Amino acid sequence: MNVLLTTITSLIMTYSMPTLPYAKDALAPIISQETIDFHYGKHLQTYVNNLSALVSGTPFEGKTVEEIVAVAPDGAIFNNAGQVLNHTLYFLQFTPQPEQNQPTGKLAEAIQRDFGNFENFKDEMTQAATSLFGSGWAWLAMNKDGKLVIVKEPNGSNPIRQGMKPLLGFDVWEHAYYLDYQNRRTDHLANLWKIIDWKVVENRM
Ligand code: MN
Repeated sequence: MNVLLTTITSLIMTYSMPTLPYAKDALAPIISQETIDFHYGKHLQTYVNNLSALVSGTPFEGKTVEEIVAVAPDGAIFNNAGQVLNHTLYFLQFTPQPEQNQPTGKLAEAIQRDFGNFENFKDEMTQAATSLFGSGWAWLAMNKDGKLVIVKEPNGSNPIRQGMKPLLGFDVWEHAYYLDYQNRRTDHLANLWKIIDWKVVENRM
């Protein structure tokens, strides 16, 4: 009986994996298929499974991932929801063949307004990701006033927690790059700029 109830509950409340908009080997050598297999196939899948199991029977049951990340107290539900949200944004922001090597449209205008120019923004974002101590994320986010800011978040946190809109996220947990770059986080970050789908990022504004 308990087994049946557990099965029914898990069918009612489950979170799902984002569908990759590219083949698993398409981002190589910048992000190898092996890294996708582990990072997307194992790490993200585990966060999704954990979150689905953890929210069951809590006030968060039925809430979206964004709603959970915004208000959940520190702890397992928040950690797993944060990582589901972070990695969904992360994996969907890449493309093997970018149509443009930097933003256009309203994103380009906002970057120019708030960082002076694209190169300044790129340097600040890279600096944030490089200097983040331990595991975490560097984000380009839009604050409540519509201004673009760069935010460093520890572990699985996300700017949504501060009422901001996340636009572009760099994962600096070692699992994001260690198979391909070992300790060379800076080299990994330098290469990520070559596979960003700027239209996806702009559409998040
Ligand atoms: Mn990760």
